[in-house]
Amino acid sequence: KLYNQVQDLKGNIRVYCRVRPFLGRQSNVTNVVDCIEEGTITVNTPPKYGKGRRSFNFNKVFGPSATQEEVFEDTRPLIRSVLDGYNVCIFAYGQTGSGKTHTMSGPKDLTENNQGVNYRALSDLFYLAEQRKGTFQYDVSVQMIEIYNEQIRNNSQNGFNVPEASLARVSSTFDVIELMNLGQRNRAVGATALNDRSSRSHSCLTVHVQGRDLTSGGVLRGCMHLVDLAGSERVDKSEVTGDRLKEAQHINKSLSALGDVIASLAQKNTHVPYRNSKLTQLLQDSLGGQAKTLMFVHISPELDAVGETLSTLKFAERVA
Ligand code: ADP
Ligand code: MG
Repeated sequence: KLYNQVQDLKGNIRVYCRVRPFLGRQSNVTNVVDCIEEGTITVNTPPKYGKGRRSFNFNKVFGPSATQEEVFEDTRPLIRSVLDGYNVCIFAYGQTGSGKTHTMSGPKDLTENNQGVNYRALSDLFYLAEQRKGTFQYDVSVQMIEIYNEQIRNNSQNGFNVPEASLARVSSTFDVIELMNLGQRNRAVGATALNDRSSRSHSCLTVHVQGRDLTSGGVLRGCMHLVDLAGSERVDKSEVTGDRLKEAQHINKSLSALGDVIASLAQKNTHVPYRNSKLTQLLQDSLGGQAKTLMFVHISPELDAVGETLSTLKFAERVA
């Protein structure tokens, strides 16, 4: 019994690593990420970063040829948990350009095959709810939130406005896609500055599920946060000033606060430092306790990204 409990706790935090393929015409490029096995990734580090090879272990490693479908297959059990009344957080972490948005939403030219985790999670959710409709009646609502410079903004019909929720009832994946498109349009209103900003803000799609047991009348609630985090790259303090520096400091602060929270949960510390950032405050109820966490750690395969790749892998190793 105790053994099972320990196993369960251990299973509450999972870390998957995904390596982006080389893009477009990049050929003849040095392969830094050289060896990918089931749960291990090996990086050839150039002399500047300490010579040799370093290996990192994760619950799962997806190589450059992994499809969106394969990546989602290992996420699936979490979706079922939400309908069973658990809270779930799924994060995409990595430097800008490493594939976070690709994993969560998909590429710009979206087709059925290349849809990301968000769409697949929602269609699974509606599919499972439909299957259970003889025993449960589910209500699903979603909310889109952006955290920029430690400020929370809701993405609603009226564009961005501050907190007091804009929960939208949804009854199909289509409804959610509509909402997400609306979100994209709202973002585009502020033109390039806002688009560019997407890599410097955390964007969170939250799905609330309420299920009523048709026989007992009992109600269970589950909630899922799908978070496309701000780019984790370190900025050179000698090169940026003003707003850019402020943004970088906010990102740095919230990503390390997230790392601290997950690491202390993984180590089963009694004190979990939720209060250190807006992100961890917002997600407090869905991090720790019975909640389940999945972190997708993204890395770019290029040689000139190796510094960021190593710091990403070290971040991930700490929370795994
Ligand atoms: P991020 O959100 O981390 O900044 P993106 O998801 O925008 O990175 O990815 C950068 C580019 O690489 C995009 O053009 C994206 O479509 C492409 N890309 C990322 N991951 C993959 C992948 N697994 N397969 C094919 N293309 C990818
Ligand atoms: Mg992105």
